[in-house]
Amino acid sequence: MPTVQELAERISWISESSTMKVAAEADRQRREGVDVVDFSAGEPDFPTPDNIKNAAIEALRQNFTKYTPVSGTVELKQTICDYHKRTYGTAYSPKECIATIGGKHAIFNLVQALIDPGDEVIIPVPYWVTYKDVVNFAAGKCVFVDTDEQEGFVLSASQLERHITPKTRMIILNSPCNPSGAVYERSEMEKIFRIAKDRGIWIMTDECYERFLYDSELFSLASLPGAKETVVVAGSLSKTYAMTGWRMGYGVWPEAVFAAAERLAINCHSCVNASAQYAGIAALEGPREPVHRMVKAFAERRQYIVAALNSLPGIRCATPGGAFYTFPNISGTGYDARNFQSRLLDAEGVATIAGTSFGAFGEDYIRFSYANSLEAITEAVERIRRFLGNSPRGDAARVS
Ligand code: PLP
Repeated sequence: MPTVQELAERISWISESSTMKVAAEADRQRREGVDVVDFSAGEPDFPTPDNIKNAAIEALRQNFTKYTPVSGTVELKQTICDYHKRTYGTAYSPKECIATIGGKHAIFNLVQALIDPGDEVIIPVPYWVTYKDVVNFAAGKCVFVDTDEQEGFVLSASQLERHITPKTRMIILNSPCNPSGAVYERSEMEKIFRIAKDRGIWIMTDECYERFLYDSELFSLASLPGAKETVVVAGSLSKTYAMTGWRMGYGVWPEAVFAAAERLAINCHSCVNASAQYAGIAALEGPREPVHRMVKAFAERRQYIVAALNSLPGIRCATPGGAFYTFPNISGTGYDARNFQSRLLDAEGVATIAGTSFGAFGEDYIRFSYANSLEAITEAVERIRRFLGNSPRGDAARVS
């Protein structure tokens, strides 16, 4: 008889989430009465707009409380297609669209549907933590490609070419990027797309932060001519509409991939929560003003936090083009990333995420989320200044 300790081997292929670990530790300290300033959160500190909440309440009142079609209601799927047509000029049919439990679920299903054991998946570093785990879970092989701080943490087409092998099956792109805030230029995306298309390699584009752009125009890789056949999009309503807890995302994919994802869905969750689907329609069709207001607030915070971090001893922070994260270099502080993260939290109650959570090369980096008020950011920066005032610096032996 197997005991509860004997878990399936594949569970060991997925690592513990380091971001969740920090969140849990910050939460524990808060419950013990510590005044924690949270720079670790990956979610907007804004409420879900009222029109979206009201749509879900109305759906419940109308008794939309039953299973929906596995891939989502016809209305939601048409709304998602209309949104892509209106925003990016890409024509999808509802047969190419599936509602998912957040963008994360779209990514999970895509990788399970497309990656066979041993297939190589190119992942630019730093990367969002989930990519590595979902590829490992499919017994695929992650091929990490370090990007460069001086190049804005963007994978170049020539770098990509050097890492392609006959086993390469997918490239994962995330623009704007979590954790670096990097935004790819359209011209680089076009080159990357051509390289992948010519070799029959899938590109999974994670467009979860599509609206969090501060210096550039909206762009979806899938809108390039000829992209629809080989570019698969993971979309999310979590960040844009401050809906992280609703778990509403989607995929727009070629029909064959859709069919595979539908099969996975049938055997896993049956459908996305019905009222959340109605909320999703309201989000995509509703007024853009709440989104603009939120992005404007993030733009102000970005300016502020970059200047404030650069005023700290030993810290060098580039200005990110999107998302709501900065990824400063802390090598001048004398700390490595893990120690910076844990000692800052213990000494000053400031929660951040070590760059190593996003790939081995993150040793010199820390992720700061600016999904927090200007007041909280000001307070946190002063605490970090105090922390660094009592810290090793510069050429001193690294604390590790
Ligand atoms: N992609 C990236 C880069 C993210 O940072 C996140 C969440 O933090 C997601 C996808 C998934 O978001 P959700 O599942 O809430 O849509």
